[in-house]
Amino acid sequence: MPEPVFRFAPSPNGHLHLGHALSALLNARAAVALSGRLLVRLEDIDRTRCTPELEREMLEDLAWLGLQWEEPVLRQSDCFPQYREALERLQDMGLVYPAYLTRAEVRSYVSAHEAEGKPWPRDPDGAPVYPRDEVVISQAELSARADSDAPFALRLDMTRALARLGGPLFWEETGAEGPALFAPGKKAPVDAAAWGDVVLARKDTPTSYHLAVVVDDARQGITDVLRGLDLYHATSVHRVLQELLGLPAPRYRHHRLILGEDGRKLSKSSQDTSLRSLRAAGMTHTELRRKIGF
Ligand code: GLU
Repeated sequence: MPEPVFRFAPSPNGHLHLGHALSALLNARAAVALSGRLLVRLEDIDRTRCTPELEREMLEDLAWLGLQWEEPVLRQSDCFPQYREALERLQDMGLVYPAYLTRAEVRSYVSAHEAEGKPWPRDPDGAPVYPRDEVVISQAELSARADSDAPFALRLDMTRALARLGGPLFWEETGAEGPALFAPGKKAPVDAAAWGDVVLARKDTPTSYHLAVVVDDARQGITDVLRGLDLYHATSVHRVLQELLGLPAPRYRHHRLILGEDGRKLSKSSQDTSLRSLRAAGMTHTELRRKIGF
């Protein structure tokens, strides 16, 4: 078996919270248990929200937690040419199209549809699946937007992509905690159609999360992706992109989420669970580990 390579991949667009601490520590523990390596990757493609200050604080929080990772960290903002290359390969396969509908147009199209009693599909994150541009706006309007400076997203034509790949896809889902770490994985079925035409890039953003994560996991030789259950369904999209681009599939381990008092997933804006504020309130990292059941 090749040496396992794990990664913790936060986005420096806010402060790390208890959920990130759990993810980081599980990755570190698994890397040690399986005599593997641990990398840190900064997913900073959102150039408006990610700042050097937040990045510095994030790495400082990880060091405080006791995490040890290999240097250098990879910054996605340094890898835009690699994402462009992957995007161009998908474009050459005829699987990418510019999509011009605004969020408001999608919303009003979907509500009009539903007002007629016809349900509209939602993706696994709960957002309406993207309708085709030509069913919402006229051909003339579409051409006018294409000829102008209108913003657009580059979307994967999921129907075509799945047709190109043919048979059903799977991924290996392995336990993230305890003895399950060593057990063989289960075959999890890919359901990428449920996502519809996902965004791969935008007019002013050279990549989306889905494209970048797949390119980077392959480039960094990641063998084990260990991340929160909130990204479980995103794995379907990642597997499709890996197959289209001829990239190896890592093993996946999705771990439990830490929920806030309101029962919802923690967010970077909930200050009371940020590692910084817990630390400022005097919590030690041993107490913090205990708090998240570590
Ligand atoms: N950057 C993502 C996040 O902070 C994690 C991506 C991943 O682990 O695949 O939620």
